[in-house]
Order: sequence, then C-alpha cells, then structure tokens
Amino acid sequence: MTTTTEQELLARVPTGLFIDGRWQDASDGATFAVHDPSTGAVLATVASANATDGVRALDAADGARASWAATPPRRRGELLRAAFDLLQERRDDFALLMTLEMGKPLAEASGEVTYGGEFLRWFAEEAVRIGGSYGTNPEGTGRTIVSHKPVGPAYLITPWNFPLAMATRKIAPALAAGCTVVVKPAELTPLTTLLFVDLLREVGVPDGVVNVVPTASAAAVSEPVIADPRLRKLSFTGSTPVGRTLLAQASQNVLRTSMELGGNAPFLVFADADLDEAVTGALAAKFRNTGQACTAANRFIVHQDVAEEFARKVTERVAAMPVGRGTEDGVAIGPLIDDRAVAKAERLVADAVSRGAVVRTGGHAVEGPGTFFEPTVLTDVQPGSEILRDEIFGPVLAISTFATDDEAVHAANDTEYGLVAYAFTEDPARGQRLMERLETGMLGLNTGVVSNASAPFGGVKQSGVGREGGAEGIAEYLETMYTLTPDPFRR
Ligand code: NAD
Repeated sequence: MTTTTEQELLARVPTGLFIDGRWQDASDGATFAVHDPSTGAVLATVASANATDGVRALDAADGARASWAATPPRRRGELLRAAFDLLQERRDDFALLMTLEMGKPLAEASGEVTYGGEFLRWFAEEAVRIGGSYGTNPEGTGRTIVSHKPVGPAYLITPWNFPLAMATRKIAPALAAGCTVVVKPAELTPLTTLLFVDLLREVGVPDGVVNVVPTASAAAVSEPVIADPRLRKLSFTGSTPVGRTLLAQASQNVLRTSMELGGNAPFLVFADADLDEAVTGALAAKFRNTGQACTAANRFIVHQDVAEEFARKVTERVAAMPVGRGTEDGVAIGPLIDDRAVAKAERLVADAVSRGAVVRTGGHAVEGPGTFFEPTVLTDVQPGSEILRDEIFGPVLAISTFATDDEAVHAANDTEYGLVAYAFTEDPARGQRLMERLETGMLGLNTGVVSNASAPFGGVKQSGVGREGGAEGIAEYLETMYTLTPDPFRR
C-alpha cells in the first residue's frame, strides 16, 4: 500500500519519546499504532507515554529551565532560524509525512510546511524584541521599570488536523520567550511532531528544552503534569469540551493558559459581493483540509437575491473536486481522519435533509478502504438544523439565506463560538460595520483564508482564550513584572 519513497521516509521518523535530549521507549514498553486514513494501513508503531513518563519529561523541562531562560535571546532566535532553514530543505519529507498520517492533499501539506515554518522565522525575529519600559510615576516620586520574563515550563497539547503548524505555533514562541516545553501531540498524527523535534535536536536546541510525549492515554499523562507545581503554563489547541476540562484542571494551580478551541464560522455573502470571488473564497474556507479546520466555514449565510446563483456556481466547482489519497496528483479532497468523522458528516447531512435541506451534490460516504466523504453542497438549510450548531469538520457546505444586514449579523453571532467569520461585500462601509458588530476573534473580509504567522490568531466566546502568532504570540509565554524605585534625584 505504501510506496518505496513512503517507506524510506517512515523508516527515518523517530518513534520514541524524546526526553532530555534522548529518544527512548515508554517506561512500561507500551506502544500504539498510527494509521493512514486513506487506506487504513498501519504507518508506524509509536512509544506510548504513561503518567510517569509525562512527569519525567517535566523533570527534564524543569532541569533546563534556568539555563534556557539565561540563553541570550539572539542565540534562541538563531536556533529557531536554523530550524526554519532546515525545515525548508526537508519540506518534501514533512509534506509527505503529513499527507500520510493525516490525509490532506500533498499540495496542502506543502502549504502547511510554509505556514508552519513561518512561526519559526517570525518568532526567531521576535526573540530579540522582548521589550520593557522605564517611566516616571504620576506623582513624580518614583520610577517604574517594567520587564518581561519567561513564564517557565510549558505543557503544549496539539490536535491532529495541522500536525506541523499547531506544533510550531506553540513551540516557537515558547522557545523564543525562554520557556522550556513538554509537547503532547495528538495520538492520531504524532509522526510529524516527532520528525520536527528531531530537527530541533539536529540544529542544536539543548537537551531538556523540548521534550515530547506521544501517548494513547492523553488524560492519564496530562493530569499529573498539569497538577505539578513546577508547570507554569498550559497551551492547548483542540475541541471546546476538552478545553473546558483542561481549564478546570489548570485552575488548581492557577496556571497561565492559552486555549485555541473549536469554531462555527459564518460565511456571509452580501448581495453586492463579487460572486466569483466569494465562490473562490468559499472553496478555500470550506474545503481546505477536507473541511477539518477550526477556521472552516461552517454556515454559509447568503443574501436571498444571490443565493441561487451562488449555490449554482459553488456546486459546479464542488462537484468537480477530485477525491482520493492525498498523494495522488490533482486530488482536492482527501479522507476524513477516521470512521467517527464520516459518521458525523452522515448524521449532520441526514438531519439537515430531514428538516428540508436540498442536496445539490454529494451527500454520502465513499466506500472504503479509507474514510472518505463526498464533497457536498446543501441549500435551504433550515433554522434548528444540527449542522448550524455543530462543528461539521467535514466537506459539507451548508447554505441558508437572509434578507437584511441585521438578520445576517444576528445569524452569524447566534453561536457559542467566535473564532473566525468571513464576509464578502464590495461596500467598504458595510465591511467596517461588520468589523464592529461580529462577535469573532478574526474576520476574513473578502478572503477565505485568515491564517498568518504575523497576526494574532485566536477566538472569543467559547472559541478560546489568548492568541497565537503576531506580537501577541510571544506575550503568552512571558510574565510581566515591575519594579518601583524612588526618584533618584530626591534621595
Ligand atoms: P481534541 O480536543 O479531541 O484533542 C486535542 C488534543 O487534546 C489531542 O492531543 C488529544 O490527545 C488531547 N486530549 C484529548 N482529551 C484530553 C484530556 N482529557 N486531557 C489532555 N489531553 C487531551 O481535538 P481534535 O479532535 O484533536 O482536534 C479538533 C478540534 O480542535 C476541533 O474542535 C477544532 O476546531 C480544534 N482546533 C482549534 C484550533 C484553533 O486554533 N482554535 C486549531 C485546530 C483545531
């Protein structure tokens, strides 16, 4: 099932735990299998950390804490930059590995190498710009000196859908800030993180600074790490329910937390939109990663005067999208990550149809091997349909309509989530009103892609707390401290 090139790559991927600069087995010898979702084949068998291993990884991070914090920012930045450069040299390996373990089409995996790599370059540059301030208090009696210090050892939990970018988006700012880390990659896609951490070792990141604990027992490994008083920061990307559980655990030690959680993005198309651009934006916002993105457009809310034309144009494009293994030429739609994801897409489509939605194309699971679902367009989606409330996480584009701007904004905000919204309009004033009225952390105004390493990615409401990327990204790993001293001229 796997080609020779694929086998050669898989043979080079480390499959152990990485603790204190050394690849090793789990202390009880446990392992778990990683599968190719497009075939079901086992790609690799990976060491499965237990609770003791998790705490050993934190021991290592704590041991390296002081020396890494004292490493000159320039040196920290240069190591990240070296990692960026080596990642570019090895971009084909990383792209192929992501396609194998996660299923995304190879061209998209290559795009993720670019996007994921940018966090290394961006935070290499930010490492030397950690500022502070010196000022006179309003009374004139003293001076305030504000400084920033690394928060301390951080525990980083990542999801399966962007195996490289979600790792670099956390590891790079943490290292730039001077924090050591323990990374727990998703059990469905640990291989990319393992290969990436080996690259960090190769460029010279010191022992103990980055530790990785792949595991099939995420909760059992994480609880004692989060409860350990030496841990100072928890950064999580994943679903909102797991985020809530982790926030509760983190509250015990009043940990600093960053939570990048689920989304339910509205995609608004106004009557004055350039419909061809809106269709192109819709395809990017909906079908990137086969719909398995927190930023995926979940609800297409289209003005009634252009809804039919939009539906017709988008259906034509969607019906022509080639489905297949991500390694095949021209494939636009890869597999979903597992059977449960396929069952969810089936359930959401069936519920919408039972309430009056019309299937314009697709609508069914594809027979195996592999866990594929046809790219689908639904129109006439009725209020109350589950597909408007749940994160679809699959290639289903669901269209409902609106008549007035107030109705559109109300529908867009009618969710507990607030990660990203998209809006297509040729009227700049309307665009500006949307910026003010939409409850969202990010807005794609006449674009279907918002992610960029230089921008503060993150959500409001139950989509999360904190930001990743941009100048804000490094602040998540820094403590602010001030020193007050008397006016030196009055002493
Ligand atoms: P998930 O919540 O099931 O798992 C995420 C990670 O948490 C995995 O590493 C998993 O092993 C771990 N985990 C699960 N239960 C845990 C527990 N009790 N204790 C500790 N760790 C635990 O999410 P997923 O299915 O991997 O990812 C998809 C979700 O992630 C979607 O909801 C998506 O919107 C969200 N996501 C958000 C962003 C963002 O930036 N906001 C980015 C990507 C994905």
